[in-house]
Amino acid sequence: MTGSGSCACGKIRYQLKEELTDCSYCHCSICRKLTGSAFAAYGAVGKVSFEWIGGESELSRYSQTKDTDRLFCSACGSFLATEYKPEPNSLYISLGTMDESPEIKMEYHQFFDSRAKWCEIDDELEKYSEWPDEP
Ligand SMILES: [Zn+2]
Ligand SMILES: [Zn+2]
Repeated sequence: MTGSGSCACGKIRYQLKEELTDCSYCHCSICRKLTGSAFAAYGAVGKVSFEWIGGESELSRYSQTKDTDRLFCSACGSFLATEYKPEPNSLYISLGTMDESPEIKMEYHQFFDSRAKWCEIDDELEKYSEWPDEP
């Protein structure tokens, strides 16, 4: 086991069995609204290595676009994860819902040009104006 997470009210819990990859910050206006904060922080996990271990029936799904579903707790509103349909075997975890700080290295900022100007960002990470370049 490499980590667990939960929503604010504790009804929904999950467990990861592999390390997170593709860890990034997203500054797009939608992620700002979804999180109610300056930006979102995500990490990817393979669905085979991810398990809801409690409260799965409380999950709500917001289909933001035809490709992107956001998963929330229907009781407390915590934004737990994103399903991106072009990558059906992965799940993007909202990193703030992890119970302990995962041992990860954040890799980049995306949609940096859309960032909240009231939030100062001063790190060395790659900053993409929109999506990161394809590897
Ligand atoms: Zn909850
Ligand atoms: Zn975003």
